[in-house]
Amino acid sequence: MNWLNAYSEELERPQWSAETVAGKAGNAYREPNATGPRVLLNLVLTEADIFQRDSNYVFAVYWSPPPSAVVSTARFKANFYGTTPNRSRLQERIEKQLLTSIGHAARVTRCSDPRCVRAYPASLDEFDAKGSTYCADCQAGMERFLGRSLPSGKGRE
Ligand SMILES: [Zn+2]
Repeated sequence: MNWLNAYSEELERPQWSAETVAGKAGNAYREPNATGPRVLLNLVLTEADIFQRDSNYVFAVYWSPPPSAVVSTARFKANFYGTTPNRSRLQERIEKQLLTSIGHAARVTRCSDPRCVRAYPASLDEFDAKGSTYCADCQAGMERFLGRSLPSGKGRE
């Protein structure tokens, strides 16, 4: 797979089309009844800035089936806003977005609990303020998707 093709198709903008990247990622998915280890979902993590249809940028896109997500780190980085780099803040933002997007791709019901990592933020400040773990409902939804229990919490509530 040549990821540069995803970029070159969008030379009008210095971003990748999330849908183009998503289409390429979808090719990696195998149905659950295929032989060999099961692919649970397609997940692309990129530092490229991404956009989708009417949105001039998005943090991530997700869809199902097959369960898939594309997550961009571009708008989580301090250099995008001209602020001081903070490695732990960047890592936390990426972890939160991955947990959120994986939950969406797994078709876990949308969550409105502001303490949950899957709560919808209206701004980056709200994103930073929300929790970093799944609430009980989201954890149960992920366990249904995976077909097994998850360890509880990350030990840093
Ligand atoms: Zn939740």
